[in-house]
Amino acid sequence: MAEIVIRNLRKEFGDFTAVQSSSFKIEDGEFFMLLGPSGCGKTTTLRMIAGLELPTDGEIYIDGEEVGRQPASKRDIAFVFQMFALYPHMNVRKNISYPLVSQGMPKHQVQEKVAEVAQILGITKILDRPVGGLSGGDRQRVALGRAIVRDPKAFMMDEPLGALDAEFREHMAEELRALHDRMGATTVYVTHDQLEAMQMGDKIVVMNHGVIEQFGTPQDIYDKPATMFVADFIGSPSMNFLRFHGQVLAGSTSVSIHHDEISVPRLQEPFEGDMVFGIRPEHIALTDTGTYRGEVLAAEYLGTTQIVTLKTANGELKARIPSGQPVRVGEYVGLDFNGATVTLFDNQSGRALK
Ligand code: ATP
Repeated sequence: MAEIVIRNLRKEFGDFTAVQSSSFKIEDGEFFMLLGPSGCGKTTTLRMIAGLELPTDGEIYIDGEEVGRQPASKRDIAFVFQMFALYPHMNVRKNISYPLVSQGMPKHQVQEKVAEVAQILGITKILDRPVGGLSGGDRQRVALGRAIVRDPKAFMMDEPLGALDAEFREHMAEELRALHDRMGATTVYVTHDQLEAMQMGDKIVVMNHGVIEQFGTPQDIYDKPATMFVADFIGSPSMNFLRFHGQVLAGSTSVSIHHDEISVPRLQEPFEGDMVFGIRPEHIALTDTGTYRGEVLAAEYLGTTQIVTLKTANGELKARIPSGQPVRVGEYVGLDFNGATVTLFDNQSGRALK
């Protein structure tokens, strides 16, 4: 069990800064996601926590002890890679036992421990099989077995499901989360897949170009994106952005877009300039009465819902509506926005207005 605190952590490779000064806290027992597009610095952050990369600056505390310059072997952290390397000449049992045997644990204890782990992972029946002929899922379970067998303080996982096909990946994600819930060990998990992060994580750090854009629960990040980058990266289809020039007064609960007063959550600070009105597709309703109008460009049937693409005076947007509601391409419809769910952004900084 471990609480991990990251303070002003930074990493440079030559004159390139891969991770800008970052701070966040991972609570004991949390399933914690590092999420962002390729090259944003997730893996580098994870490797610094694990002790595989030396920070340029900043501190890493594990259970209150600063470990940023300690070797990986002193940190008691298990690392699970995407390209999990199993020892091909050993069977499943030997692969899982290996970390304990190399620690010098007595044989009977090793056997007990391996049996316990195999039971947790549901691989008791394949313990004596060679790893060569195993399915992708079983290989992953063996790799996990080897990681959990020595009861580390925390797990670091770098896209562990990345090599699996979509359907199986979802199944393994559920299995991994269930395993975490049973064991309760602090887990830091790197992924570029927003759905995986939302489904599995207790908390998420969203990174972009080495910078933390937002840190919070999946719900916080979905409902209250701190930046346009986060709003766009999370959710599918992603949040709609309507650009307009305008003014909001402190305490105001509406904005004027294209001659229409549209309600928004109360703003604490006044703002005038180029703004972006952000709304998720499921928070738009198509009505006969709405005065803000759009032309239906397309409708995509998805079973219980349909995604309707509309052209408005401020740009295109997508609405997710019940598939039973009739829409015709080419017709003009009124749009109703659920004001409580709107996020307004400063177009220049990309940050949400407060
Ligand atoms: P991916 O999912 O593609 O691995 P990532 O978010 O994990 O992306 P990192 O692997 O942390 O990103 O890399 C961040 C940036 O740092 C990238 O631009 C990468 O090229 C660079 N980088 C990583 N390791 C090194 C290194 N050893 N030397 C130089 N540059 C590096």
